Amino acid sequence: MALTLKLHRMELPREVIVGENTLDLVAEVTKKLGFEKKAFIVSGLKTFEIAGRRVKEILEDAKIEVDYSLVKSSTVEEVGMVERQIEKETPEVVFGIGGGTKIDVAKLSSARVGVPFISIPTTASHDGIASPVASIKGLSKPYSVMAQSPMAIIADTEVIIKADYRFTASGCGDVIAKLTAVRDWKLAHMVKNEYYGEYAASLALMSSRLIVRNADLIRPDSNEGLRVLLEALISCGVAMSIAGSSRPCSGSEHLFSHALDLIGSKYAMHGEQCGVGTIIMGYLHRINWRKIRETLEKVGAPTTAEELKVEPEKVVEAIIKAKDVRPDRYTILNEKQLSRESAEKIAKITGVIH
Ligand code: ZN
Repeated sequence: MALTLKLHRMELPREVIVGENTLDLVAEVTKKLGFEKKAFIVSGLKTFEIAGRRVKEILEDAKIEVDYSLVKSSTVEEVGMVERQIEKETPEVVFGIGGGTKIDVAKLSSARVGVPFISIPTTASHDGIASPVASIKGLSKPYSVMAQSPMAIIADTEVIIKADYRFTASGCGDVIAKLTAVRDWKLAHMVKNEYYGEYAASLALMSSRLIVRNADLIRPDSNEGLRVLLEALISCGVAMSIAGSSRPCSGSEHLFSHALDLIGSKYAMHGEQCGVGTIIMGYLHRINWRKIRETLEKVGAPTTAEELKVEPEKVVEAIIKAKDVRPDRYTILNEKQLSRESAEKIAKITGVIH
């Protein structure tokens, strides 16, 4: 009988630095990782002014040559454009500096060219700041694709705390989401014999519990609260690196958020939608969904359709459509097969719609 050896490869960040004025350490970290000559920055117009220019100057002071590209959104076209620039400039390392979209473009374009990537987030709005997956518009699928893990993450709380607090509250929603994501993963393991990693699952779950426990700390201008959130987001990113997929961090609540995007939700952020999705999917999983709602309320994240600026009917539609967004991802929604009436009833019971 042939023995099959299953290989599980984990690509993890080597340096994670969270704290005040950590941007000052960017040259030191870059050189420590062995990159001494040439770097490439991917940033946005605004985020370049917030942090990109400073990083460029610090690197140049340390005699590292820097090229940069300012992108507007995370589309397939932007990724292709940046990819060609990286190929032309041949840097040793690519920096993604900004909120979600800039980091996603840097992550995927650098991965395609085979150049390491360093993440410098300017907001704490979702776990993409530390994960190996990227969310890109214009691909055939509305969800994240595998790219590569950042080799280093440098999160400067002095920079991030100046961002609109809404980003931070949204980040809490993305972490809370792991309460249902991990349960969906375990369910898929039991029903579909899907690979399940206890360590990655525990890490993701622990991050969400950390937010639940420290919800009182997370508020505008709280450095301490922001640190808790950043560490939780980074742990979630690492959990995905360990699992080799987004499974520990993205379940039915993320499918709900993707469905809302497809239906045409324009205002709400990813983490905000995922947070509301977690209340609904928490109800289906029979976990303490009231505690989830209470935590989101405490940190100032949306808990209703009204706060997401989505019509109640669209929420009901998203609950029903969620399971078709990604048929390969087995979740609680496959077990329940909800009718329109039952979806509406759940949205009402959980207070998401009235
Ligand atoms: Zn997410």
